[in-house]
Amino acid sequence: MLKNPKSVRHENHTTPAGNVAAPVRAHHVLIAGAGPVGLVSALTLATAGIAVTVFERNTTAAEDLRASTFHPPTMDLLARFGITDELLPQGLVARYTQQRDRKDGLIAEFDMALLAGETQHPFRLQCEQWKLSRLLMARLAKFPHVTLMFGADVGSVRQDADSVSVDVRIGAGSQTQTQSQTFSGDYLIGADGSWSAVRQALGIEFEGFTYPERFLVVSTAFQFADHFPKLSYVNYVSDPQEWCVLLRVPTLWRVLFPTRADETDDAVLSDASIQARLQNLLPQSEPYQTVHRTLYKVHQRVAKEFRRGRVILAGDAAHINNPLGGMGMNGGVQDAFNLCDKLVDILNNGASDTLLDRYQRQRRSVAIEYINANTARNKKNIEERDPEARRKTQDELRAIAANPVAAKDYLRKTSMIDALERAQAIT
Ligand SMILES: Cc1cc2nc3c(=O)[nH]c(=O)nc-3n(C[C@H](O)[C@H](O)[C@H](O)COP(=O)(O)OP(=O)(O)OC[C@H]3O[C@@H](n4cnc5c(N)ncnc54)[C@H](O)[C@@H]3O)c2cc1C
Repeated sequence: MLKNPKSVRHENHTTPAGNVAAPVRAHHVLIAGAGPVGLVSALTLATAGIAVTVFERNTTAAEDLRASTFHPPTMDLLARFGITDELLPQGLVARYTQQRDRKDGLIAEFDMALLAGETQHPFRLQCEQWKLSRLLMARLAKFPHVTLMFGADVGSVRQDADSVSVDVRIGAGSQTQTQSQTFSGDYLIGADGSWSAVRQALGIEFEGFTYPERFLVVSTAFQFADHFPKLSYVNYVSDPQEWCVLLRVPTLWRVLFPTRADETDDAVLSDASIQARLQNLLPQSEPYQTVHRTLYKVHQRVAKEFRRGRVILAGDAAHINNPLGGMGMNGGVQDAFNLCDKLVDILNNGASDTLLDRYQRQRRSVAIEYINANTARNKKNIEERDPEARRKTQDELRAIAANPVAAKDYLRKTSMIDALERAQAIT
């Protein structure tokens, strides 16, 4: 079954945490994509002694500014490998989240300490996603049975009753000539992001829609907290004309704005337009100094199938959503744990691979009923133009925040604790 034995070594080993791991067996899982989801999958499998090869199209790991919020259940899961303890000092502990109005200021503040007893981490961690990827890669480097290949572009996929094979273009993105090589394994995880080549190779539909407007994220060292009273690290700011999200990461503030569908990319990213948006949010006599600008399309899409035979999709390859609520990366990491615990059971303990159908039932349901539904609702509320509907939503938020029982329920939803429990309940 293992057709590329050179890429894998079979031996007993100790885990990076020093625990003796299960002996490495002749099992091999292929993973397309070295984003957070592919890397968490690799670590979960490798720690259980399963050989892993990760193919990453880019020549280096992504270090751009993408997700920046870790929700409590994600930290609880990552704690299994001691990753959370390493991540915590690299981020900011956000005990409070706020719902604000651009004109009226603070509407409702939620204290995540109410989640004590529900999670080991009753707060959000504001920390850039590349820091997680960097920690995961350092861990993976210690396993002799893990191969992480950069410049390796996964193309076609074939499978039969015993194995799955992928054709990989090696040398992608570099000056050297590319060559194609075929790799085979027991299973293939498609964690290759929203444009997933694996999903496309299988012809799996990515059902849903793309919003007409794109989202702009600008980061700046400007200290918004000195100007907006009582600003927390996570602030959703509604407005009928131009809503925004103000998020703090250790060295910067990130401001997320919607753009108009009729603006060109160049116009949105021009200095004039960036300054106009920031000055409209908070007028300053000096121009704002910005560090990053990112403009991206936003979708609500879920793959019609998460599993076909020996190929399983996870993370953005399986579902994508708008970033309002910070559920994309978190949902993807939660997919990775769910899936890889099942693969360990199948490969190491002889469990039936119908467990993978359960993965699909659990994680696809959560992607549709929970992640996409909540993020779509968050967008609708933050951009609401009808004054009566805005007032109603804001009154509801105030009432929830004032009642600790209702606030705890609200926080269980927004912090994805409910989503994880919902998935577990699906048989
Ligand atoms: C520009 C941008 C900004 C974002 N901002 C936010 C945000 O503000 N808040 C938020 O919550 N979420 C945000 N997200 C979403 C969040 O980053 C994703 O949900 C998260 O990265 C999902 O992780 P993943 O591992 O599934 O996919 P990815 O992180 O996309 O990783 C997939 C990896 O697969 C690789 N790959 C692709 N095709 C192939 C192939 N054929 N062969 C081999 N490798 C391949 C890619 O190079 C990539 O490294 C943003 C995403 C983008 C793209």
